[in-house]
Amino acid sequence: MSVGGRSTLISGIGQLVTNDPDRAGIGEEADVRSLGLIPDAALVVMDGEVVWVGSSGSAPAADDVVDVDGSAVIPGFVDSHTHLVFAGDRSAEFEARMCGQAYAAGGIRATVRATRAATDAELRDRLAGFVAELHRQGTTSFEIKSGYGLTVASERRLVELATEVTGEVTFLGAHVVPEEFAADVDAYVDLVVGEMLDACAPYSRWIDAFCESGAFSVEQSRRVLEAGAARGLGVRLHAGQLGPSGGAALAVELGAASVDHCTFLTDTDVELLANSDTVATLLPGAEFSTRQPYPDARRLIDAGVTVALSSDCNPGSSFTSSLPFCIAIAVRELGMTPAEAVWSATAGGARALRRSDVGTIRVGARADLVQLDAPSFVHLAYRPGVPLVRRVWKGGRLLVA
Ligand SMILES: [Zn+2]
Repeated sequence: MSVGGRSTLISGIGQLVTNDPDRAGIGEEADVRSLGLIPDAALVVMDGEVVWVGSSGSAPAADDVVDVDGSAVIPGFVDSHTHLVFAGDRSAEFEARMCGQAYAAGGIRATVRATRAATDAELRDRLAGFVAELHRQGTTSFEIKSGYGLTVASERRLVELATEVTGEVTFLGAHVVPEEFAADVDAYVDLVVGEMLDACAPYSRWIDAFCESGAFSVEQSRRVLEAGAARGLGVRLHAGQLGPSGGAALAVELGAASVDHCTFLTDTDVELLANSDTVATLLPGAEFSTRQPYPDARRLIDAGVTVALSSDCNPGSSFTSSLPFCIAIAVRELGMTPAEAVWSATAGGARALRRSDVGTIRVGARADLVQLDAPSFVHLAYRPGVPLVRRVWKGGRLLVA
């Protein structure tokens, strides 16, 4: 649809979530107002973009018409944090953890071994399967990190494979210290900021590090992020997943687009985030899958911090690719309202990637749309585990029909 200059009218939208601040008129509460809801709405798509948004009654004519019969339509989900290029299976580790064994960052090394041993074709096939899975669940933009190679050649291979499916590629050489450098972490950091960064920067938009006890210290993370920034990469950081690490303050200081996890934050960290344009990205699939305490989204939002929700999809600590699932947990366990959770999984994810063309439905935005099998966005949290994604358009193209 919408190719060759043809226009498509999507009509019969019972409730349209635009995330457009200029339409923040409907809804009593601030969280709902920020969704920019339009009841009984329609929109027109042409050449991959939204070209008209408004009430059904004033919709213009178009070449084609799709009637969604009263369904809610929301922007495609923006998943700003995934680790999708990997091989292997860690279901036994998950099972052991659910039987009482503690989670530690070192389990990543098992995936590193399997990923190093996999062929390009195996990794590419697995990745294609995950991309299809994301689309089926309404995710139309996603970031992918490297970090399961941890040698110059294997990290380069992972960022290169990721560029085949997304423009949002993150070099995460500082994911975990590989076994061969266990005795000299600083020597590994030297490699990451030197030859490995040289090899990966041309394929990457972002630099990231895992700033956590058992992974990299604040000073080691700073070296990595500053080296990436000096090469023109945007900064993001894993911090505060397993304990307070000082990583959030580092992320704010370096002007990071996002600091991710944020379960353990001091009051000072929260204040720093609230006064910055660094997004706090919460990954409740990780706490769900590791039985760790959930982050307190209420505390962050009430302090004025911008919050994103992402899947953290990875084989060790969060093997879900479903943002509807994350929305349901965020509402039940993180103290978010349904409107806040939906905003954070769409517009919030876009902010975390510093994107203004996605996560919103307004004139000029990319036509990334999800039709729900439901009359309202609230059903995403109200009906947990139910597949409510009915149709998905990305750039105006119908991916899930
Ligand atoms: Zn992660």
